[in-house]
Amino acid sequence: MERTFGGPIVVGRARKPAKSAWFWQAREAHLWCSMCSRTFPNGTCRLADGEQHCPYADCDGLLSRDVSDWSSIRREHPNYPVAPWLGIQYPLNAPPQKVSR
Ligand SMILES: [Zn+2]
Repeated sequence: MERTFGGPIVVGRARKPAKSAWFWQAREAHLWCSMCSRTFPNGTCRLADGEQHCPYADCDGLLSRDVSDWSSIRREHPNYPVAPWLGIQYPLNAPPQKVSR
């Protein structure tokens, strides 16, 4: 799993600040990050500076600011899969493509 994200991550029920508690109530299976256009399982994040970040090591997205439910992305893009691939970019206005490293 950590190889997928490129760095150490936290999996499971991490403690959340109250302002973003809705993420856990929503029980989305997958979340989508607007900073890197990639998805990750709900409950996965990377802790840095006391904040919960997008789990991908090369992304500065914040869970409380930059992350959306995957289901709401799929409403706009019905061709996107129900279970998205990790590490694949799903841009809002272009077809999916592999992340180049
Ligand atoms: Zn990200």
